[in-house]
Amino acid sequence: MSTPGLHHVTLTSGAPQPALDFYAGPLGLHLVKRTVNFDDPGVHHLYFGDAAGSPGSILTLFPFPDARRGQAGIGAASAVALATPDPRARLEALASARVEVTAAERFGAPVWCVSDPDGLSVELVEGPEGLAWATLWLADPEPTARLLTEVFGYASGPEIGGANGHRLRLSLPGEGPGRMIELCRSGSGPRARPGAGSIHHIAFRARDRAHQDALVEALRSRGERVTERKDRQYFESVYFREPGGVLFEIATDPPGFAVDEPADALGRTLRLPPWLEESRDRIEARLPPLGAR
Ligand code: ZN
Repeated sequence: MSTPGLHHVTLTSGAPQPALDFYAGPLGLHLVKRTVNFDDPGVHHLYFGDAAGSPGSILTLFPFPDARRGQAGIGAASAVALATPDPRARLEALASARVEVTAAERFGAPVWCVSDPDGLSVELVEGPEGLAWATLWLADPEPTARLLTEVFGYASGPEIGGANGHRLRLSLPGEGPGRMIELCRSGSGPRARPGAGSIHHIAFRARDRAHQDALVEALRSRGERVTERKDRQYFESVYFREPGGVLFEIATDPPGFAVDEPADALGRTLRLPPWLEESRDRIEARLPPLGAR
């Protein structure tokens, strides 16, 4: 029943253009969908990923031009790590764009840390292209770790303890992107505050509806309150708040991003779901301008 890994990570940003220029610029992601927040069509929803928009490679963005900055802290995912097979090329692109990079080491491997235009902590590691992990800050990581191991199939370990807090890495077996989650115990830190530069939620993959149903049933049998299924056009989603307060989603792999535009032209024009298409003129007039990348 376990998940194949992360499906996507969704951020809140400030103005859309700097975020687009950063993620589709020196970070090397592809803009694979321009659409709107289906629950608030006055706001863009931008999807980045590998060229095909594969599950496990997706970083999505709700840009609010006037948003105040969020605060990383307890009860939220507070960093996202992206893997690239060629870190040297990324580091050169970041240097050319004058993005400050801090090199570190974690669990014996190099990690390069940058801040996005809204101050979100983004980590780069060497690995198969896609998401590497999300880092959750929690007052008590134990209930979250139990949920991830018992329902989603993660295995615990290794751990780092010490003056900088306690960090536990959980991994799924096998190969491919998005197979790790890091849990940081931050007992005395600030509570997370939503806003620009914060992570709104993280989504796990379900192979199809039946797999999603099985995961939902397992969660409900543990007393988790899971929403009904929502049609997100490119996947179908359910949501719940895990015991540490972080918003989790389970998103189906199908139908994917080529459902409403050609696979070789993803992200070039504004796509709207059928139920918003009749309001296209009004929606386009309200959205902030957003250039190409
Ligand atoms: Zn989502």
